Amino acid sequence: MVIGAGLGGLACGIRLAARGLDVTVLEQEAVIGGRAAQIREAGYTFDVGPSLITMPWVLEELFTAAGQDLHQAVRLRLLDPFYRIAWHGESRSFLFNGDRSAMLEQIGQFSWADAARYDGFLAASRAIYEQAILVAGRRSFLRLADFLALVPAMLRLGALRSVDAFVGRFFQERHVRQAFGFHPLFIGGDPFRVPAVYAALAYLQIEQGVWYVEGGVHALIQALGSLLRAVGGRIETGSRVMRILTAGNRVRGVQLEGGEELAADLVVSNADAVTTATDLLGRPRPRLRSTMGCYLLYLGTRRSYPQLQHHTLLVGADYRGFITDVTRRERLSDDISVYVHAPARTEPGMATTGGESLAVLLPVPNLRAGMDWQCTSTELRERLLNELESPAGLGLTGLRSDIAFEAAWTPLDFRDRLGAVDGNAFAAEPILRQSAYFRTPNRDRQVSNLYYAGGGTHPGAGIPGVLLGAEVTSNLINSDLGL
Ligand SMILES: Cc1cc2nc3c(=O)[nH]c(=O)nc-3n(C[C@H](O)[C@H](O)[C@H](O)COP(=O)(O)OP(=O)(O)OC[C@H]3O[C@@H](n4cnc5c(N)ncnc54)[C@H](O)[C@@H]3O)c2cc1C
Repeated sequence: MVIGAGLGGLACGIRLAARGLDVTVLEQEAVIGGRAAQIREAGYTFDVGPSLITMPWVLEELFTAAGQDLHQAVRLRLLDPFYRIAWHGESRSFLFNGDRSAMLEQIGQFSWADAARYDGFLAASRAIYEQAILVAGRRSFLRLADFLALVPAMLRLGALRSVDAFVGRFFQERHVRQAFGFHPLFIGGDPFRVPAVYAALAYLQIEQGVWYVEGGVHALIQALGSLLRAVGGRIETGSRVMRILTAGNRVRGVQLEGGEELAADLVVSNADAVTTATDLLGRPRPRLRSTMGCYLLYLGTRRSYPQLQHHTLLVGADYRGFITDVTRRERLSDDISVYVHAPARTEPGMATTGGESLAVLLPVPNLRAGMDWQCTSTELRERLLNELESPAGLGLTGLRSDIAFEAAWTPLDFRDRLGAVDGNAFAAEPILRQSAYFRTPNRDRQVSNLYYAGGGTHPGAGIPGVLLGAEVTSNLINSDLGL
């Protein structure tokens, strides 16, 4: 039995069903995908959450494990550039891609001295990628000893300092340092605090590309749903689990909203790991700090904006202050940094009217900040539209009057629709003391047949992280069952 049909629940369910287990995935929402849901209205299609596909081989391996070919199920397109990084009030921008000479030129706009250290950065971050992602990301850290055994290698690689400090060893110019150091934000990490393990994110994008799934990430979710059914699994939507039922140190089943009890030989929770502990198991709240939240504005426009790339990042003048405000001071910043997804740049059919289906993402404090989201949502909409329209921002002149469809998600949606504690956007913050052994383990420490999949467990959030974690969890289950 799997609770939740997010990426983690689907991937773990597929792997288990492909090994012959009888798998049922219970999803509280009417649709599958969790954070990777879709809004489809008035001719516009938006991915609610994830939009960048990285490490496509992780997806290929998942399909192969179920006897199918990813590329028969979805069409992936390599983006070039991966994204444009623009800075508020500046005309220079950085087109990020995987081509060495193009990257040297982009860095050289800001500093030729930094460009000369590009290869050094790649070599150092490759070493981290190989250790931290390829080795540690595929192992469970059930014992403290497993974590301690990894520490000397991580220290040697400089992977335990912050991402910003690691990047700063190679790139000293402010724009270049930000361009190579912002990647932890993709998984809710503060680049000034998370360990340089996450410097591997820039490296793996450069080496393996940033991809787009035709139809959006939700098309991938639908393909995963079909894959699960093809290997014999079932998905029950509109099924909310209220309680995980235990007898001694064993799970015996789950109780649904409405009281029905379903028996299970084992349970994998893809629900928020903290909510699983408190609401489903009745335990005290684990001492895990949630990531930031997201304010998401979805705009269907009547016309297109060719000045946008598929992905565009606009960095504010006080980037560090903005991140500290959002993550530590828990307040809205005067300065904002924002990300815009414009899939119709690559696939015009995502906005059938010849316009754009823009998803605008602003990191915001999570619900612990106690903000009134009714008022805040209105205020942020205005600030975002000002910034997008302004020549000092993205210069999307006339955007307001071009909007034909609009929707927004706030941290309240993450809490109320997905059960995300504190309305977090990316599960538990990926700081060192909440990583590996210190994160919610892939197998529960008290209940022997209760497991976890999703961004809250090891190795963490992001599509590749969640899929690698689902593999770790399913391997543990197979080994516990002697398969
Ligand atoms: C705005 C945003 C942008 C992102 N961008 C990217 C990106 O570009 N690239 C990338 O790789 N990653 C990105 N991510 C991260 C990635 O989307 C997530 O890490 C991943 O989708 C999380 O999957 P999951 O399985 O952990 O959980 P979820 O997607 O949250 O799924 C959990 C599921 O469990 C269900 N559930 C919860 N409680 C219950 C219950 N009691 N009973 C039944 N069902 C329940 C929920 O309804 C939900 O469907 C982004 C995330 C966000 C929020």
